[in-house]
Amino acid sequence: MHALLVEDDDRMARALGTALAQRGHTVRRVGRALDALRHVHEAGFVLLDLGLPDLDGLELLRRLRAVCDAPLIVVTARCEERDIVQGLRAGADDYVVKPFRMAELMARIDTVRRRTDPRSGRAGAHPAHPADPGGAGGFGGRPVRTGDVEVDLAGRTVTVAGVEVRLTRREFDVLAFLAARPDEVHSREVILDRIWGDVFLAASRSLDVHVAGIRAKTGRSHLVRTVRGFGYQLGSPTTPAQGDGAR
Ligand code: CA
Repeated sequence: MHALLVEDDDRMARALGTALAQRGHTVRRVGRALDALRHVHEAGFVLLDLGLPDLDGLELLRRLRAVCDAPLIVVTARCEERDIVQGLRAGADDYVVKPFRMAELMARIDTVRRRTDPRSGRAGAHPAHPADPGGAGGFGGRPVRTGDVEVDLAGRTVTVAGVEVRLTRREFDVLAFLAARPDEVHSREVILDRIWGDVFLAASRSLDVHVAGIRAKTGRSHLVRTVRGFGYQLGSPTTPAQGDGAR
């Protein structure tokens, strides 16, 4: 597959280019945002550094997303949660903080590509991805409600107080996985295995980042309950009109 590598650091670009080529990808490397915009239409997927000389990376990300639907992974030294949430909100499919392990990045590229492949149901018509709750009363069933939040597993939509909230695919997958079995606590390992397809990511912050994104975008910090040292469970968001969350 053809990769667009947006990276102004020559050493980093060489290392990434070599690793991508070893995995059979062709690579166009650009060091400036303008060139990224010029070449993004060719890309099967995009790796994007946020620290670029000619434009803020988050702004570039938004512009790329406006013209291109290819899988996009941010690869950056910015590790503040605020930056990560902004990156995911701007449309990144995943977020990798430098320094990273090359094998982990390559694994994430594979899972993002798999997940966004139209043949595997990006449009939601054939949800064949690992997060598919399947027989768990998910697809085709009634939406899952908690407080004023409604998760429609079949339609892949989330509403808060009746207003639709846009999550990234991965964020939705995490939320849907929890919502499909709301009474259970799910370990980090199981969630990472089912959604990322990789237990070895357990040490990474990827899952926490996505949970932070879900909380921030829905404005319901209790929608996902942290079980310290273990994992996560669907929570009961407190709302002014406390409903079925109080049961
Ligand atoms: Ca840079």
